[in-house]
Amino acid sequence: MKPFEHVNAGALEEAVSLLKKYGGKGRLMAGGTDLIGLLKDRILTDYPDALINLKSIPGMDAIDESAGGLRIGALSKLADIASSTAVRAKYPALSQAAESVASPEIRTMATIGGNLCQDVRCWYYRYPQQMGGRILCLRKGNGPCHAIKGDNRYHSLMGAKKCFAVCPSDTAIALSALDAEIEIFGAKGARSLPVEEFFTPLGNALGPEELVKEIRVPAPSPDCRQSFLKFTERKPVDFAVASVAFAITVHDGTCEKARLFLGGVAPVPLRAEAAERHIVGKLIDSATAQEAAQESVAGARPLSGNAYKVEIVKALVNRALLSLIQL
Ligand SMILES: Cc1cc2nc3c(=O)[nH]c(=O)nc-3n(C[C@H](O)[C@H](O)[C@H](O)COP(=O)(O)OP(=O)(O)OC[C@H]3O[C@@H](n4cnc5c(N)ncnc54)[C@H](O)[C@@H]3O)c2cc1C
Ligand code: SF4
Repeated sequence: MKPFEHVNAGALEEAVSLLKKYGGKGRLMAGGTDLIGLLKDRILTDYPDALINLKSIPGMDAIDESAGGLRIGALSKLADIASSTAVRAKYPALSQAAESVASPEIRTMATIGGNLCQDVRCWYYRYPQQMGGRILCLRKGNGPCHAIKGDNRYHSLMGAKKCFAVCPSDTAIALSALDAEIEIFGAKGARSLPVEEFFTPLGNALGPEELVKEIRVPAPSPDCRQSFLKFTERKPVDFAVASVAFAITVHDGTCEKARLFLGGVAPVPLRAEAAERHIVGKLIDSATAQEAAQESVAGARPLSGNAYKVEIVKALVNRALLSLIQL
């Protein structure tokens, strides 16, 4: 590992001014569970001169609930979100997603801000320097996307145009279904963005002198039912091959509102709008669930090795929707 400076930021403003000071050679660090691995394997072409530690900023790890909803500081640990009584009671899709991430050890270190900003898991992108040399590609700003003609079994099924790596964040899928917003703090002040708009084809919406301050989740209506389901190859610790997050309101068995997002199949949390339209106004039964499952993959354009994900997404949508009418 190359040497780098480690600087503790004492406040949001200081973190931003440190980003400015190092001019693109400073990287923010929260739990370090993603970043330190990237640096150890030297997969990035641009190695930072300094890591700017956010954990030294007081108060950024609070989870506060009010009548209006939930405010989750960017430094909140995934373990704390998964076990929070308030989150489990009213935002179960989020606690299920947080609990599905990695292992208890990683969830105790990993923060929600880091989970949203983590780098992609494409195996071409992550190929370690010490194992024969890092692989350059379109996402690294130099070369083609190797997944298009290569081994793409874990890559995007829908919506990718440049980079086919999938959005790796489980919490992003649940937060999108819950219509959450990200509060961004930067040199030019604060701004907020829906989680579903945070991800871009080659990264995220943060500018060079911006960071994630907190996540705000609006209070769901009392009759909102939620589910997050994830399919992995290895059971205990694994990223999603595919996942689904539902937030729906149901009256007398009929769906009045629905938000459905798919994970593991696109570079961003993918809204399954056709499936949502199909469910709203309908009695939720096994026929509706099967039709919604079919609609959810209407936009699928499989690569050579990932068509198997289509059936997994359909099974997850069907299963998640039926589980909600049994609540
Ligand atoms: C073995 C293993 C299994 C995993 N499995 C899963 C899984 O199943 N599902 C899943 O979703 N994830 C999974 N992950 C990824 C894991 O969730 C992330 O590593 C973790 O959430 C990152 O959080 P962190 O606080 O450690 O971030 P760090 O490693 O500190 O940072 C990650 C990135 O985010 C940036 N960053 C951090 N905080 C902020 C902020 N507040 N504002 C702006 N930028 C910020 C950093 O600059 C860096 O680029 C796994 C990781 C490992 C190692
Ligand atoms: S999927 Fe993205 S990260 Fe992977 S090789 Fe293609 S451009 Fe690079």
